[in-house]
Amino acid sequence: MLKGKVAVVTGSTSGIGLGIAQSVAAQGADVVVNGFGDAAEIEKIRSGLEKDYGVRAVYSGADLSTAEGSAGLIAFAEEKFGRVDILVNNAGIQHVAPVEEFPVEKWDLIIAINLSSSFHTIRTAMPGMRKRGWGRIVNIASAHGLVGSVQKAAYVAAKHGIIGLTKVVALEAAESGITCNAICPGWVLTPLVQKQIDARAAAENKTIAQAERDLLSEKQPTLRFATPEQLGALVVFLSSPGGDNITGTSLPVDGGWTAR
Ligand code: NAD
Repeated sequence: MLKGKVAVVTGSTSGIGLGIAQSVAAQGADVVVNGFGDAAEIEKIRSGLEKDYGVRAVYSGADLSTAEGSAGLIAFAEEKFGRVDILVNNAGIQHVAPVEEFPVEKWDLIIAINLSSSFHTIRTAMPGMRKRGWGRIVNIASAHGLVGSVQKAAYVAAKHGIIGLTKVVALEAAESGITCNAICPGWVLTPLVQKQIDARAAAENKTIAQAERDLLSEKQPTLRFATPEQLGALVVFLSSPGGDNITGTSLPVDGGWTAR
């Protein structure tokens, strides 16, 4: 379905981004993989996409905490593949602390990676999309883009911000064949969440399994984690003809979290 398209998935060396990269590659899109990690592991991911799905995959270690890194990632993709058709802004980090104790440098870093980097990738990728009259921009927000939780001031602010950015880009691009939507996952069992589960187990003297159950039952009524594959399937749908007139939305994949 996506043969001939080029997808950039930020933060695709791990977790949700990796699942999305695999889902779009499975539909035939060439992929730019981005993110940090062990060089040998990343090369395994990159070559695995080529081998498993018969697409072209390249890697960029661009640091998305800076404007140059974020815009540079799009320039790199255009240089390698000549175009960017699907842009998935997924890279993100978390830090948990009460607002009065929230480290200022963590606030700045979270706003830079989880919010500003999407502004820079979008503003750089849109001219090419406009020229070709087709584009899909998918911002991975969070249930925390729709509701708050304690101790996550920077993350919740950034994720609410990305939903605002999504709406503005959708409106500005409405007549150009480009759609822009946000996906709002609830809990997904990735390294980002595993850290929170481990911290909770240690703080409350519980087993990992108990901490996992508590985390789910507090927020996610289905009591099941959402998966990277489910999020990848939604990105594929938004990139399909069925997604042509869906724009400016925030789509929860949160097991009912934001229904109450
Ligand atoms: P993860 O930690 O598994 O992956 C994060 C990815 O971002 C990695 O590839 C990492 O290398 C990359 N990254 C981090 N800093 C970067 C930087 N400066 N430049 C480039 N890449 C960078 O996390 P995840 O859970 O897969 O999260 C992916 C996205 O989904 C994030 O935006 C997160 O906020 C969002 N999200 C996650 C959950 C969840 O439950 N896991 C829920 C809602 C939203």
